[in-house]
Amino acid sequence: MEIRQTDSFAKQLREKGFKATHGRVRLLEMLRESKKPISVEALAKKLVKHMDQATVYRALEAFAKTGIVKRIDLGHAHAHYELAGEHHHHVVCESCGKVADVELKEPELERAALRAAPAFANVRAHSLEFFGTCRTCA
Ligand SMILES: [Zn+2]
Ligand SMILES: [Zn+2]
Ligand SMILES: [Zn+2]
Repeated sequence: MEIRQTDSFAKQLREKGFKATHGRVRLLEMLRESKKPISVEALAKKLVKHMDQATVYRALEAFAKTGIVKRIDLGHAHAHYELAGEHHHHVVCESCGKVADVELKEPELERAALRAAPAFANVRAHSLEFFGTCRTCA
């Protein structure tokens, strides 16, 4: 579901009920250009001509609710965001902050979670990140 064109971002925003303002489209472009999940603060620095930090934060939270972006907890005090695309997880270096995207055997994970929580009939979604040390830092 990766969206590559600015036009597609504008279209996607309108489809989700947002006005496709220049700032919102730039915000999604910045998320696409970032090679890893990015914080509100870092996004606001790049978008300083278009949006202040509070506006960036509100836009991201609204986008997350409608499934345009995904909020990710990388173990910092603040959240990071990335474009919602193929479902995946992250391995994070606790020393330098390097992030790798990883895909796992999902059905097995959810079955294991259900087996461990017999009071539950199903799981709809999950979020799972891994923390360690990258080879450069090790
Ligand atoms: Zn590292
Ligand atoms: Zn990712
Ligand atoms: Zn998963």
